[in-house]
Amino acid sequence: MNEKQDLLSLYPEEIRQILTENGVAGYRAGQIFAWLYRGVRDFDQMTDLPLPLREKLKDLFYVEAFRDEACIASRLDETRKYLFTLSDGEYVESVLLSYKHGYSVCLSTQAGCRMGCRFCASSGLGFARHLRPSEILLQIDAITRERQREDPSFRVSHVVLMGIGEPLDNYDNVIRFLKLVNRKEGFGIGYRNISLSTCGLVPRIRDLEREGLPVTLSVSLHAPNNALRDSMMPVNRRYPLEELIPACREFTRKTGRRISFEYALIHNVNDTPRCAEELIGLLGGWMNHINLIPVNETGNNGYKAGSRGDLAAFCALLERGGLNATIRRTLGADISAACGQLRRTKSAGKG
Ligand code: SF4
Repeated sequence: MNEKQDLLSLYPEEIRQILTENGVAGYRAGQIFAWLYRGVRDFDQMTDLPLPLREKLKDLFYVEAFRDEACIASRLDETRKYLFTLSDGEYVESVLLSYKHGYSVCLSTQAGCRMGCRFCASSGLGFARHLRPSEILLQIDAITRERQREDPSFRVSHVVLMGIGEPLDNYDNVIRFLKLVNRKEGFGIGYRNISLSTCGLVPRIRDLEREGLPVTLSVSLHAPNNALRDSMMPVNRRYPLEELIPACREFTRKTGRRISFEYALIHNVNDTPRCAEELIGLLGGWMNHINLIPVNETGNNGYKAGSRGDLAAFCALLERGGLNATIRRTLGADISAACGQLRRTKSAGKG
């Protein structure tokens, strides 16, 4: 007998095909898909399906599930940070953020990360495995269900793939997730409401461009020259700025979508007037946006965040040079919403 299929990772057409191959009417796929997105995971609760079919579904499919491990709510704003345990005991984190335009979730795409960025809390624990599409979707589902207990009208409207993991290192699963989360029979989240963040895997940026999905690409830049970027992000040695920046320009030219560059300011490292000048040289004259954030002081890299004044001064230098730069509002400051920290604490207590 064939292996059971991960039902939440399948498109309705694929469910339909498996059903018809097994002698079941294809229209049942729509009913099953609808139950899944109403939060029903037990085939016995899919009450409009005949009993023999429910039994058959148990042989053909399994429904991925994970446990809610922890939820920490900010006292300063509506930010909430979640830790989930996957079916094999791995941990992932997600963050819920509240904006004027609606609720946004920041999701993990891998259990751990193998990119090794020096400023990141996720890199210290190494890489366990890629997440399947179902495991990325379930983060939205679990947050939605938790919030709907207080507000039945709660709905996630925006998705940011900026949690634990490098999304483009888990390319096929992430692309499938994007197509599933966009389905109107599912969460129905528009591509334009989705941001995907990468540390700069150039060949995958080019692949993403060819997919033709109008998501926003966000690139973790953090340094304006190769020497500095090499010291912060090992990926730069494989794909240096002279490859990354042309790939980004090409992405913008082909998709018409403005790239957002993330730049975490580290005091006396990448926030000097010289760095601002180099950034202007790198990003001036084409459509992009720079998001400035204070670096997250994770404690073991020696990086220090500058003051609000340092951030504002750096931002002003970029603007004077013609760049489109903003200082990103820090949400959930009291629960340190940066990725990887809950997982780090939990994993450190394992075994
Ligand atoms: S910043 Fe992103 S890509 Fe870099 S180590 Fe952290 S999770 Fe991985």
